[in-house]
Amino acid sequence: MKITRRTALASAAAAGAASLAEPFALNRIAAANQPGKQAASYYRYKVGDFEVTAISDGVLNAPIQQGFVKNASVDDVNAALEAAFMPRGTLANQFNPVLINTGSQLILVDTGNGPGRSPTTGMLLAGGLAAAGVDPKQVNTVIISHFHGDHIGGLRSGDGPINFPNAEIIVPADEWAFWMDDGNMSRAPESGPVRTTFQNTRRIFAGMGDKVKRFERGKDVVPGITSIATTGHTPGHSSFLVTSGSGKLVIQADVTGNPAVNLRNPGWHSWADMDGPQAEASRRKLFDMVAADRIPITGYHYPFPALGHIEKDGDRYQLVPAPWQPII
Ligand SMILES: [Zn+2]
Repeated sequence: MKITRRTALASAAAAGAASLAEPFALNRIAAANQPGKQAASYYRYKVGDFEVTAISDGVLNAPIQQGFVKNASVDDVNAALEAAFMPRGTLANQFNPVLINTGSQLILVDTGNGPGRSPTTGMLLAGGLAAAGVDPKQVNTVIISHFHGDHIGGLRSGDGPINFPNAEIIVPADEWAFWMDDGNMSRAPESGPVRTTFQNTRRIFAGMGDKVKRFERGKDVVPGITSIATTGHTPGHSSFLVTSGSGKLVIQADVTGNPAVNLRNPGWHSWADMDGPQAEASRRKLFDMVAADRIPITGYHYPFPALGHIEKDGDRYQLVPAPWQPII
């Protein structure tokens, strides 16, 4: 249709009518359909010239049972959850890998649970990366913090090919040495999470031995990313310091899980920490440094988008979440 002054006025009038009617139309849609779930979730922020994207791999609701914290009672753990306005009896354990775009490289740190663990996990590969505009084939480097299944599970689906076919895979040398040692595996309990981790590690890295690069903790992993030895959660657990210009970010990985538990109570020894006292020493050292130097921190199990600062509070710590920013 040729646009004349008359048709332009007519369509402006129609648009006006539509915007008047719109609230009622929206009400009707809302009444008919409550989606009841989140969209794929990612959040971007800058660290110097790097762009970091936190991508949710989902959540698992873990029951609070005896032994959830080895040196605290179920009542004490529930009181800590309640103090953080979280429900008693269950911990919503989130998973938040980060993707770092250096301007020339795409680096993924940890890979989520992978497919098949539960309907509420595996979101990194099932929509999260795609929503953030990234094809797994584009990832240049995958850096792994430690070998628990919620961090390496996304590397391989079942016995299929590697999910990041063009990426160099880089893991802590100490972690590799521990979990790939058959003697260590033979001494693990017959069943339980340690045995499962030995088996899962062998499945994931099957046939990849030569292709997996190993880094010494405390040294540079790739330009701009330095490893920090944070032993205790596992024997070769690593955190990372990302540096670009004056920008810094600490990727703590699993130095603590949900902040309401081991951040508020740094002396608590989680069931998931293989060496509780060593994990506590690593935790206090890292958080004292991050609090004193006011470095932003991301935690794999912090609430999405898992970004904030650590504030020291006497003998304890507190996470101060970073405010959401639309322009980065
Ligand atoms: Zn974890």
